Amino acid sequence: MYTMRPGEFTYHRPATVDEAVALLAGDGEARPLAGGHSLLPIMKLRLVEPAALVDIGRIPGLDAIEVGSDGLRIGAMATHAAVAGSAAVLATCPVLAETAAQIGDHQVRNRGTIGGSVAHADPGADYPTVLTALGATMLVAGPGGERETAADDFFRGVFSTALGAGELVTAVRVPATQSGTGAAYSKKKHPASGYAVAGAAAVVTLANGSCTAARLVLGGVTGAPARATAAETLLIGSSASAETIAAAAQAAAESLVGEPLGDSYASGEYRVHLATVLAGRALAAAIERA
Ligand SMILES: Cc1cc2nc3c(=O)[nH]c(=O)nc-3n(C[C@H](O)[C@H](O)[C@H](O)COP(=O)(O)OP(=O)(O)OC[C@H]3O[C@@H](n4cnc5c(N)ncnc54)[C@H](O)[C@@H]3O)c2cc1C
Repeated sequence: MYTMRPGEFTYHRPATVDEAVALLAGDGEARPLAGGHSLLPIMKLRLVEPAALVDIGRIPGLDAIEVGSDGLRIGAMATHAAVAGSAAVLATCPVLAETAAQIGDHQVRNRGTIGGSVAHADPGADYPTVLTALGATMLVAGPGGERETAADDFFRGVFSTALGAGELVTAVRVPATQSGTGAAYSKKKHPASGYAVAGAAAVVTLANGSCTAARLVLGGVTGAPARATAAETLLIGSSASAETIAAAAQAAAESLVGEPLGDSYASGEYRVHLATVLAGRALAAAIERA
């Protein structure tokens, strides 16, 4: 029966990451609880019925945002609002603050977390696309110890990541960008939720009028963020003219692998069209900022 009430579960509130990992490792049916903005709705719909929730929201320091010479380290429990308003993020990686500010509404931004977003891996989520373009890595703690996984390898498909049983994302690391680099994210928002119907993130480095590095990633169109390497190859070594941007955006859409996602809101064909337009906008904005 459709009750909008979750099934029964045990609630744990660990005080440390080690304690959380032990609780998760000791119960294959347990799940971490962060902001609850994705987990609680699917529990109420009985799409998932975890036997236990491991609430990581009170672990000291897990929401810390730190900046060092090698870049940013954002704790898994940092909310979207905290990232959007962080002076450290605004100063060193403004595209990430801009992305966080575009997620959902005030309620979602005040509760939802970066760790929850990457672990949930919704194809319409914004962080996965942008973090992949930024070359970010996920810091993961689990029964086997700690490891670091590149965003390129972390996102595997619709709601699917490289996280293993009992593993927890503890932080996201975003490398410092070299001088002459600009980054931008462009998305078509779903009018009700704000999720990306499609999105594109671009990070471009220019030196003496020539493009020396480029990363372009499409989101919302396939199960996981899609690196557009054919487009990146077109850009690198070019003067990043309007013609090259248009050709790169076209190449990005044409090089998508597999069937594009389609649903009652947007067909696969429409999402591919959107991605082409958004890739062009993201590239133009990133180049303007570089
Ligand atoms: C109305 C609405 C609109 C939204 N709009 C957008 C939008 O525009 N763009 C967007 O990107 N997102 C959007 N979201 C999603 C929002 O960003 C969520 O907050 C996010 O997807 C999940 O974060 P959370 O902290 O709430 O995680 P939770 O709901 O607590 O957890 C989500 C999943 O991740 C797991 N998990 C949580 N934290 C960790 C961790 N540290 N390590 C391992 N596993 C973990 C949980 O077990 C669960 O399976 C929206 C959500 C709602 C309800």
